[in-house]
Amino acid sequence: MEQKILVKKIFQEVIKPGNCFHCGLCEGMSNNLFKMKEVDKIPIPKLIRKPNEKDIPDLKKIILACPGRGYPYNYLSKKMKHRKKSKLIGNYNDLYISSSNRKLIREKASSGGLVRTLLIELIKSKKVDYVCVLDKKKKTILNFDVLITKNLNKITNLSQSIYQTTPLLHKLKFLKKNKSYVFVGLPEHVASLRVLKIKYPKEFAHIKYLISIYSGTNMYPGAIEFYLKGNGINSLQEISKIDWRHGEWPGKLRIVTKNKKILSLKKFYYNYLIPFFISKNCLITPDFTGELSDISIGDAWNPTLENKGYGYSVVISRSASFSNILKSLNKRKIINSNLIDLKSTVKMHAHMIEFKKIGSYLRIKHFKKFGPVPLYDLKPNFVSNKRKLIEDIIRIVILISSMKYIKKIFSFIGSNILGLIFQHIRKIWKSLTKPAKRQGLTQNKFIPVNNKRLKEFF
Ligand SMILES: Cc1cc2nc3c(=O)[nH]c(=O)nc-3n(C[C@H](O)[C@H](O)[C@H](O)COP(=O)(O)OP(=O)(O)OC[C@H]3O[C@@H](n4cnc5c(N)ncnc54)[C@H](O)[C@@H]3O)c2cc1C
Ligand code: SF4
Repeated sequence: MEQKILVKKIFQEVIKPGNCFHCGLCEGMSNNLFKMKEVDKIPIPKLIRKPNEKDIPDLKKIILACPGRGYPYNYLSKKMKHRKKSKLIGNYNDLYISSSNRKLIREKASSGGLVRTLLIELIKSKKVDYVCVLDKKKKTILNFDVLITKNLNKITNLSQSIYQTTPLLHKLKFLKKNKSYVFVGLPEHVASLRVLKIKYPKEFAHIKYLISIYSGTNMYPGAIEFYLKGNGINSLQEISKIDWRHGEWPGKLRIVTKNKKILSLKKFYYNYLIPFFISKNCLITPDFTGELSDISIGDAWNPTLENKGYGYSVVISRSASFSNILKSLNKRKIINSNLIDLKSTVKMHAHMIEFKKIGSYLRIKHFKKFGPVPLYDLKPNFVSNKRKLIEDIIRIVILISSMKYIKKIFSFIGSNILGLIFQHIRKIWKSLTKPAKRQGLTQNKFIPVNNKRLKEFF
C-alpha cells in the first residue's frame, strides 16, 4: 500500500504538474520500476511495472532527492564546510578566473576547459577511479548518454556544452560501491546527489566529488530541427555532426551535413531558440551555479576576456580539496588561475542570477495557482511592481513562442535573420530592464522560509 502512495506522490507533485527536471533519478534509483521515455521528444519517467514492498526504500530516496520537489538549499549548504557565505552564488571557499594551458583542451572547451582538466587530474592522481559525464552517443545525432570512463583520451574529447534536456542520473545503480567516482552535472543533478550523500553518507560515499557547470537556460529537444528548417534542411538524417560551441570562445553552433554543407551561427545569435524551446525546469529553480557542488564552473563573461578570445572559466571552489587541486594545477602550470572577488563573480552573471533568484520566485508563485510547485527555503525580501511586470512579459513571450503553430511559422524564417533580430531585441530589453533587475538584486535580502519540504530534512 505504502509503495502505491509513494508512486502517487511522485506523479501528483512532480510529473503531472510538469515539474519534472528530466534528471533520470527515478530510473537510476529504482529496480526497473521507472524508465525514462520520450513524450513529445521530452524525457519523462514512466512506470514500467507495479510497485511492491521491496521498492519502498528506493521510492523514499527518490522522493527525498527529486529536484522537481525543490530543495532547502540554505539548510543543505550549512551541512557542507565553507569559508564564505553568499545567497546569490551559494557558499564557497575561493573564486577564480581560470583556463587550461593545454592547447588541445582549451581549443575544444566550452569556456576555459576547466572541467576536463580537473577530470584528467582526478584520474591521474588516482583521487577517483572513474568520471561520470554526459557525452554524445557514437554515430548518432543529438543522442546523449552518461559515459563512465577513466580513459584520458575519451575525457579529453568529451562533448562541449549540450543545450538539451537530457537525463543524467539514470545509471546510478550501475556505479560500483567499491570504486570512486567524480560526477559532472547541471545544478539539479548535483543537488540531487548531494541530498543523497548528506542523508545516506555510507551508501553514496562512492560518488566522491560533485562538479557542477553553471546552467542558465536549457532547451527541450526540437531546437536543432527548428534551426535546420530555417536553413532549408528538413531532417536530422541529413546531418553528420553538431557542435554547440565550435571554434574560438564563446564558440558557434556548427552543423555539418552529410553532403559537407556547413551551417554556423554565433553563440549569442542562437539564443533566439530559447523562448521557443526553454525547458520549464530551468524556469523554476533558483540554482544557477550548482550551489551544492564541490566546485562550480561557468563562462567568465567579462568584456576584457571576451575580447581576448581563447576561453576563460569562472570557478567557484566550495571545498578545501578543490582549492588545493586548483593551487597545485596552477603551480605546475597546467592551468592559469587568478583569484577574484565575490563582486566581480556576481557582476559577470548578474542578469542570470537575478533571473534565477527573483525570476524563479515570481514564476513559482504564478505556477502555484495551478498546482504543486517545487519548494525552496529562501525568498527575496521585496520585489518591485516593475520587476513583476517584467516577469509577466517574459512569461507571455515564452507562452506564445512555445505554442506549436507559432514555432511552425517561425521555423520557416532563416536563422541568421531571427538571430540578428533576437540579438537586437535582447539588447534593448536588457537595457530597459537592467535598472529594475540590478536594484532588485543588489538591494535585496534573501530571507529563510519554513515549509514542509524543509521539514523532511530534520
Ligand atoms: C544547458 C547548459 C546551460 C548553461 N548555461 C550557462 C550560463 O548561463 N552561463 C555560464 O556561464 N555557463 C553556462 N553553462 C556552462 C558552460 O557552457 C560550460 O559548460 C562551463 O563553462 C564549463 O566549461 P569548460 O570549458 O570548463 O568545460 P569543458 O572542459 O569543455 O567540459 C565540458 C563538460 O560539460 C559537460 N556537459 C556538457 N553539457 C552537459 C549537460 N547538458 N549536462 C551535464 N554535463 C554537460 C561535459 O560532459 C563535459 O564534462 C551552461 C551549460 C549547459 C550544458
Ligand atoms: S525530476 Fe528526476 S526524480 Fe523527479 S520525477 Fe523527474 S526524473 Fe524523476
